[in-house]
Amino acid sequence: MNAPAQDTAVERTLVLVKPDGVARGLSGEVIRRIETKGYRVVALQLTTATPELLAQHYAEHEGKPFYQPLVDFMLSGPVVALVAEGERVIEGFRSLAGATDPTAAAPGTIRGDLGRDWGLAVQQNIVHGSDSAESAAREIGLWFPAS
Ligand code: GDP
Ligand code: MG
Repeated sequence: MNAPAQDTAVERTLVLVKPDGVARGLSGEVIRRIETKGYRVVALQLTTATPELLAQHYAEHEGKPFYQPLVDFMLSGPVVALVAEGERVIEGFRSLAGATDPTAAAPGTIRGDLGRDWGLAVQQNIVHGSDSAESAAREIGLWFPAS
C-alpha cells in the first residue's frame, strides 16, 4: 500500500521560557504543554541572554516604549531556549502561548493560565514563540548557532 499523501511540512520554532517563567519554576510546565500537544523538543538549553543577542532577537521592536524594559527584563535571569518541531508548530505554539497581554490571554493558554499583570513597564508573559517561518529560522540561528 502506498503511504498516504502528506501535504503539511514539518516546521521548527524557537521557544523561550522567559526569566519570569524560569524564576517561577514554570519551565517544566511549558515543556509539558508543548510535548502533550504532540510536538517534539529537538534542542534545549538553559542560558543567559546578552545585549547583543537581544538586540538582534528583538530588532523589530527597537524604538518602541517597551523596548528597553523588555531587554532589561530578558537580561534579568536565565532563560530556557528550546526548539520545538512538528507540522504547523509555529502557529501551534503561538496558539498554546496565547495573547501577548497575559491579562487578556484566554484561559487554557500558557499566558492565560499562568501569567498576569505585575504592574511593570514590560509584559512579563512567560514565553516567546517565533511568529513566522522567517522569524523561526532567524531566531533558531541566533539562539542555537551550532545547529
Ligand atoms: P509576542 O510575539 O506575543 O511575544 O509579542 P511582541 O513580539 O509584540 O512583543 C515582544 C514582547 O514585548 C512581548 O512578549 C512582551 O513581553 C513585550 N511587549 C509587547 N507589547 C508590549 C506593550 O504594549 N507593552 C509592554 N509593556 N510590553 C509589551
Ligand atoms: Mg513577537
